[in-house]
Parts: sequence; C-alpha cells; structure tokens
Amino acid sequence: MRKNIVAGNWKMNTTVPEGVQLAQEVNDAVAAAGTLKCDVVIGVPFTHLTAVRAAIDIDKVGLAAENCANHTSGAYTGEVSAAMVASTGANYVILGHSERRGYYNETIELLKEKVDLALTAGLKVIFCCGESLEERKAGTHFDVIKNEIVGSLFHLDAEAFANVVIAYEPIWAIGTGETATAEQAQEIHAFIRGLLVEKYGNTVADDTTILYGGSCKPSNAAELFAKPDIDGGLIGGASLKADSFMGIVTAF
Ligand code: PEP
Repeated sequence: MRKNIVAGNWKMNTTVPEGVQLAQEVNDAVAAAGTLKCDVVIGVPFTHLTAVRAAIDIDKVGLAAENCANHTSGAYTGEVSAAMVASTGANYVILGHSERRGYYNETIELLKEKVDLALTAGLKVIFCCGESLEERKAGTHFDVIKNEIVGSLFHLDAEAFANVVIAYEPIWAIGTGETATAEQAQEIHAFIRGLLVEKYGNTVADDTTILYGGSCKPSNAAELFAKPDIDGGLIGGASLKADSFMGIVTAF
C-alpha cells in the first residue's frame, strides 16, 4: 500500500540558523503528534542539509535536497552531486520543479540524467511535473504531463521506479494563492496513475505516491487529500512556518 507524504520545499529561504530552528520545530511537532497518517519530509537548501540532518530524527522527518547535478563529480564549479547530497544523510531529492525547468532550462533529457544519478546515489526522488496556464488553456496539459513523466522516468525498471514519488504541480497554482480544485487535481492524478498502470502494471501504480503541489495550505489540504489519487502534498510557502506545515500534515 502506498505511503501518504507531506513534503516541504523551502526553496531559497532561511539562513542556516533559521533553517535549523524551523527543522527542529517541525521535528518536535512531529514527535509530539504521535502516530501520523503520512510521512513528513522537509526539502531544504544544500547549505542546510548537514546541520538540519543533525537537528532532526531522520526516522520521523525525511530530508530532501531541492536539486542535484547531472554529473557525478569533476570540474562543474558550483554544482552539488547526488552522492554529495546522500553523504549529508539526506534521503530524498526534489527534481524537475517548474522553477528549475523554467529559470534554469532543465529539460526532460537533463532530468532523466539527474533521476538516474539520484537513484544510483540511494536517494528517493520527488519528481515534479505540471503544466503552465497557457498549456491548460490550450488543452495540452495531459500531453505536457505525459511527456515529462515518460521522458524522464519511464526508462526506469519497476524496481528503480519504486523509489520515485511524483508531484503534480500546476505552474499556475505555485506561489499564486490559486489552488487547483480538488476535482482538477484528482483528474490529473488519476491520469498519471493510469500512465503508471500502462507502463508498470497495477501493483506499481497502486504503490506509487502522487503528491499535489500548488498553494496547498491547512484550509484546503483536507479536501485535496480526501481524493482517492491524491496521496499528500509538496508544500512551498506554507512549509516555512512549522504551524502551517503541521496544519497540512495533520489534515490527513
Ligand atoms: C512548490 O513550489 O513546490 C509549491 C507547491 O509552492 P507553493 O505551495 O508556495 O505554491
């Protein structure tokens, strides 16, 4: 049976001391909450990974990098490899976020390389996909999402794919305050699960966690998470305060 997951994506926010404090607050809140109906993950800047890892109980709060390099090592000034991320004790990496695709020209092919390196390094991948407003208005959103998933993930065998979490993040809903309705999100999540059935069969599709991301907050999380194919959230803005993040975690 698939896991529910609520994962934070802090993006380029917080200094290291601020991040350690936020991570400690999340860790303490998760510990105090007892048995939760979802796993909790925080996605933090590279600079924070080692200090945050030391501040949390990794069995209670998973730790993600927000990116990794598409090379293993060498003369790539400023890059951070998947193996470096794993060496901090982080256990996840977020790949394919629309901000990386849009601002840093990350292509489907490049993301395929990153996915492979992350999995080889032993990281679980939170793979983001989603359409722009123009693409939704043009009615091409299903094709866009299919191309992103097929092009960067479907070379994986079922064993490797078991370490992939998919996050559907409509670009028009990210940081805009505009959430996809629970019905809109469910429609896409069901479509994605259908792609997984075709490629990997029912068992793998049933076992794959598919998150929704885009202005998810405590007030709308429960309605989204009640949908049968929405297995949690990837949370940007609302993950920067422990109480709002926990309001989403406890929405299950
Ligand atoms: C995100 O960037 O992954 C995200 C979902 O952001 P927000 O929750 O702020 O819309």
